[in-house]
Amino acid sequence: MHPVYSVIVPCYNEEAVIRETHKRLTQVFQSMEEAYEIIYVNDGSRDRTGEILREIAMEDPCARAVLFARNSGQEMAITAGLDYASGDAIILIDADLQDPPELIPQMAARWKKGVQMIYAQRKDRAGESAFKKVTASVYYKFLDWLTDGVAPRDTGNFRLVDKQVVDVIRGMPEHNRFLRGMFSWAGFTREPVFYDRQERFAGETEYTLKKMLKLAADGIFSFSVKPLKFITGLGVSFLGLAGVMLLVLLIALIFGAGSGLWWLAMLMIGLSGCVLSALGIVGEYIARIYDETRGRPLYIVADAVGFEDEK
Ligand code: UDP
Ligand code: MG
Repeated sequence: MHPVYSVIVPCYNEEAVIRETHKRLTQVFQSMEEAYEIIYVNDGSRDRTGEILREIAMEDPCARAVLFARNSGQEMAITAGLDYASGDAIILIDADLQDPPELIPQMAARWKKGVQMIYAQRKDRAGESAFKKVTASVYYKFLDWLTDGVAPRDTGNFRLVDKQVVDVIRGMPEHNRFLRGMFSWAGFTREPVFYDRQERFAGETEYTLKKMLKLAADGIFSFSVKPLKFITGLGVSFLGLAGVMLLVLLIALIFGAGSGLWWLAMLMIGLSGCVLSALGIVGEYIARIYDETRGRPLYIVADAVGFEDEK
């Protein structure tokens, strides 16, 4: 039967929670009394997540599993889910029950009223470290300013999206993906629902600092060219400074004052620092262009279980 709702659940090393998550999601959807499918994407887990998902997909006719050949990151796992989903409304939710499934009926009700995207906005970040709270808050403010508000603050991937919006995302083949930004970029009508972020049901966060930094960089460099403009601004200021210095030096020459070698050294180091960081910023964009031109697939599927017609 054609599902009304498709839920996409990216999973990486979630053996401790995944059965509970399936139970909670199933309860919610059975109470909604409409056809649904739950698509679990195993993002190359190193624990038993893959096997458990296979079992779930075989036991439950509403569950499906897409199994990646290797770990490719949450954004890619969701991207695969979007490609496999056939529902009229698509829901993105984390596997660890930090996003409460019980919020879905509320989102669905708004969707039925014609809102095309309902995103969950956090009121509170229970159980997250002070470090994560502070870095997230600073980062979102910075991102807001850089991208002129493309991604709503305190919003993760937890959302319900109409098929029409998802079709737009499906047609965006970029490799450095920051999905919440892409969803905002697509436009359409949208509304937030507010919720308290729960603590992880079990297991540990797989978002290493490295993965967080990568996602943070994608948010900035894929949605803003302000860093490039900043470099230009910096370059022009330094040119101005050099002009002023030339004047000062000329005057000093006339009055026969001595030169300051230390000054020169400091200036050299400062300027090389500027040039190198400028190169680095330009490099970020070039690396992304390189990624796109290679045209590699976004993700590699090793197996898909539970889909009626083979993909
Ligand atoms: N995840 C994934 N691939 C990864 C890392 C995480 O699919 O490489 C999934 C993970 O299983 C979870 C979601 O992405 O469903 C969010 O991850 P996590 O809970 O570790 O992040 P946090 O909530 O701390 O931001
Ligand atoms: Mg989590």
